[in-house]
Amino acid sequence: MEKLTIHILLVEDSASDAYLLHRIFLHAHQEQWEMLHVERLSEAIEASRDSTSTLDNSQIVSRSQRRFDLVLLDLSLPDSIGLDTLKEFQAAVPDIPVVVLTGLDDEDLALQALAEGAQDYLVKDQITIQRLVRAIRYAIERSEILNQVRESEERTRQALAKEQELNELKSNFVAMVSHEFRTPMTTIRTAVEILEYNNDKLTNDRRTKYFDRVQNAINQMLHLLDEILFLSKTEVTKLEYNPTLLNLENFCNELIDILQLNAGSQHSIVFTFQGESTQAQMDEDLLNCILTNLISNAIKYSPQNHTIWFDLICKDRLATFQVRDQGMGIPLKDQTRLFQTFYRASNVGVIQGTGLGLTIVKKCVELHGGHIQLESEPNVGTTVTVTLPLQ
Ligand code: ATP
Ligand code: MG
Repeated sequence: MEKLTIHILLVEDSASDAYLLHRIFLHAHQEQWEMLHVERLSEAIEASRDSTSTLDNSQIVSRSQRRFDLVLLDLSLPDSIGLDTLKEFQAAVPDIPVVVLTGLDDEDLALQALAEGAQDYLVKDQITIQRLVRAIRYAIERSEILNQVRESEERTRQALAKEQELNELKSNFVAMVSHEFRTPMTTIRTAVEILEYNNDKLTNDRRTKYFDRVQNAINQMLHLLDEILFLSKTEVTKLEYNPTLLNLENFCNELIDILQLNAGSQHSIVFTFQGESTQAQMDEDLLNCILTNLISNAIKYSPQNHTIWFDLICKDRLATFQVRDQGMGIPLKDQTRLFQTFYRASNVGVIQGTGLGLTIVKKCVELHGGHIQLESEPNVGTTVTVTLPLQ
């Protein structure tokens, strides 16, 4: 069986002690060793950090990600003395197991080091091959187990946070549904009552107005139901991503025709296209959902007679969709939370909405492996940019 190489960092300022350990390692044939020797604590920290510097602080570093499997640490070094040496090293490099090297008269210090988290200690004058190999093996194994426990704790913590988030979502959902459905229901009930009891007295114009109100309220509820259904698909089952070959320019032109028809003459949508290729591999329904939501927002949150700009640029294997308006904009404090379910900016006033559109957009963008960016200034306007890979 192939032997696994064990990488050791020896931190020892005494040349003779270091030489002794080298000799012992040379004779320890059960394992394969590789050792780096440094004399100062600062050098030890720097050498250990090299391999893990790209990792996030919260990540648990596995053995394969570390440069060293173990550190043999003398506590008396030129730049640090005693227990502080261990504390400082562990604070800087928390994931590497440490075996402390002490002198004969330092038994107390060794015990304190164990209490501080060292895996073991070796008394320099008493080191034998067997003791050294055993201490190193046990230390590595113990630290692996500790890492696994930490990883499992981290997973449990994440699962709990997810559950908490879901609970929050549920209570938000109940509050929102009772509010968002109650308003159109009340509108319908009032309109129907007026139509039922005052039908003879109503002019044709008034009658049409009440029927329109009923229609609007029903549409509002249907829209809400569609959004909720869509979101539950992304949460409960997996939302399907079915890319097909699309001519993006034609796709956008057709979409704009429909949206312009809905917007009527109160807003004009100006579409421009730049780029070499218009062919893309994307999911038609999801793309439709992204662009419809963004353009509908631009219309909804802009005063009448304002233009909405919609630009498509296909370049460097990316499609960039940009929707720009000169509407009410979004206060800075709200901007980071707009992609959360049900979140609406503080300046929406009486403009209706459920705060689900952008959450849905973000999910659709992620399914395409793209990203979304929003820039906005109150009373100046909003620009949303979605970048998706063409293939
Ligand atoms: P719906 O779920 O019906 O789309 P909504 O429009 O309120 O409701 P989102 O589309 O998710 O929800 O948008 C979230 C919030 O972001 C909006 O409530 C609004 O405050 C703000 N917002 C989004 N787009 C714009 C825009 N173009 N201009 C100004 N505010 C915007
Ligand atoms: Mg919206």
